[in-house]
Amino acid sequence: MPAPLRLRLDGDALVQNWCTLDRMSGTAACGAAVKANGYGLGAIEVARRLADAGCRDFFVSNWQEAAELAPLGLTVSVLHGVREEDMPAATAGFARPVLNTPAQVARWKAAGGGACDVMVDTGMNRLGISTDDIAGGLLDGLAIETLMSHLACADEDSPINAAQRDRFAALAGTTTARRLSLANSAGIALNGYAFDLTRPGLALYGGIPRHELGTIVQVVGLEAQIVQRRRVHAGQTVGYNALWTAKDDTEVAIVNLGYADGYRRNFSNSGRAHAGGAELPVLGRVSMDLTAVGVDVAMTLREGDWIAFEYALPHASQTSGISQYELLTGLGERLARVWI
Ligand SMILES: *Cc1c(COP(=O)(O)O)cnc(C)c1O
Repeated sequence: MPAPLRLRLDGDALVQNWCTLDRMSGTAACGAAVKANGYGLGAIEVARRLADAGCRDFFVSNWQEAAELAPLGLTVSVLHGVREEDMPAATAGFARPVLNTPAQVARWKAAGGGACDVMVDTGMNRLGISTDDIAGGLLDGLAIETLMSHLACADEDSPINAAQRDRFAALAGTTTARRLSLANSAGIALNGYAFDLTRPGLALYGGIPRHELGTIVQVVGLEAQIVQRRRVHAGQTVGYNALWTAKDDTEVAIVNLGYADGYRRNFSNSGRAHAGGAELPVLGRVSMDLTAVGVDVAMTLREGDWIAFEYALPHASQTSGISQYELLTGLGERLARVWI
């Protein structure tokens, strides 16, 4: 049976964003981060479309995610590397690990390691071996496809960006790596950070982490059906904790979407929706499964009609205080994913 709430996912917009990022990557190849189920959109659907568009390098976090993509036969790198319990999957050959620690490197070498990637820490202090590890010969004997590092502050103008880039650039030629990769979405907008391969995630899906990425287009639309329409009389309140009070008699639609679906409580009394060209305010507190919107200006809307919630990522992030990343990856399982 069809779900009463859905994501409208624009496949052309997704591909257009990848092409934009590919162009901005200059001579570097442009990959795609499809971890966290393609940032909530659906990893398989995303990867298939981007592969058809020419994308050749995909990034996930763990081997469950890699196994899900295996039927597509793509080149997939697993960012968290290999635990002991990952070794059967890792040696099966459907993806390659990004080795992050000396223990992971030792594990991979002991297994006769095939092609792998390596993450080196250049200042974020999250994942990766150190530059000292490299100088000490840790990577000797490894067949490295891509040596990568990750930027901590690419969405800001921070001196840390150039410091990381310079530390990373100094590693060129010190390993067997065929390619170097540093930039995420925001890093692509910086000059001189692309190296041989870029790894955008957020911007593929319509996120805009820096103003230079202003040509990125929205991919995700958030829609839900009206469960009930009611008239709320002047002086009455709507929803939990009575956070909205009607000044005048007001037409209200109760819609099939709530914070359990990722429509965060921060949109209480501030979110917006649209139907047939009319703008509809969210009234009161967003509930777990329901949200009230004012429909005075949409007198023909009835039970079962669909309402589109405003979810343009930069703006939705600004009004809610929730990061664009969380707005995407928090979108729940109850939302049908409908590609158009
Ligand atoms: C998530 C991730 C990316 C993609 O980052 P965005 O900011 O979403 O573009 C790239 N590289 C690594 C190592 C990541 O973890």
